[in-house]
Amino acid sequence: MIHYKSAEEIEIMRHSCLLVGDAHATAAKLLREGMTTLEVNQIVEEFILDNGGIPSFKNYNGFPAATCISMNEAVVHGFPGKHILKSGDIISLDIGVYKNGFHGDSAYTYAIGEVSPEVKQLLKVTKQSLYIGLQKARQGNRIGDIANAIQEYTEKQHGYGVVRELVGHGLGRSLHEDPQVPNYGKKGTGAKLKAGMVLAVEPMINMGVKEVVHLDDGWTVLTKDRKPSAHFEHDVCITSGDPDILTSFQAIEAAEQANANLSWSYD
Ligand code: MG
Ligand code: MG
Repeated sequence: MIHYKSAEEIEIMRHSCLLVGDAHATAAKLLREGMTTLEVNQIVEEFILDNGGIPSFKNYNGFPAATCISMNEAVVHGFPGKHILKSGDIISLDIGVYKNGFHGDSAYTYAIGEVSPEVKQLLKVTKQSLYIGLQKARQGNRIGDIANAIQEYTEKQHGYGVVRELVGHGLGRSLHEDPQVPNYGKKGTGAKLKAGMVLAVEPMINMGVKEVVHLDDGWTVLTKDRKPSAHFEHDVCITSGDPDILTSFQAIEAAEQANANLSWSYD
């Protein structure tokens, strides 16, 4: 069942969504070689709690941390530990904040130190594919229009692998609501988009094959060929006009550019 949000609810959600971006930016200012992923998680969790939020992912179906931290060939659902960040790593942070009854959910992949041109290109194309998908998030379109736009750009134009097993989702009072939002599919298929729907659109794009495997830690999803994978996610509200993106990368990108310990992936 799809839950449509009122204008008032959207403004409450926007607050949660912007808090997620600020949590990301707080981490982005501090990310550097030599840091452990546990430290990264701690920065994010403290920020969320200090701002009156609850980390959406902590204990969700038993997930062990506030932040999903997925390194390099990990696609999603990695969790913090003793891993020490080194130059050339990419680190995807997926952060959720629950506040005032609603969730915000946003993912971003960061490049530590110097990464190869191929990896930079993966990050750039994955982020671009998110915005290409979001352009289709318009009343009267269907889920398949978003999905197809992302797939065409990443698979057909760039030869990357689109993960099939993991998809975006509706978002609101629950972290995962209907409908599912795949990153692959046919134009003109799936649920019709209507004003008041909020969708988490989140391309998970592999440099190599689309297949994934599950690590025996019970959570982490890896690429089958162990090539790197990138993940970017925005929450968008369908309106009668242009897509209303509730999350923001603005503070994240500013922090990324100001942090000499990070490479960034856009022009
Ligand atoms: Mg997420
Ligand atoms: Mg999500």
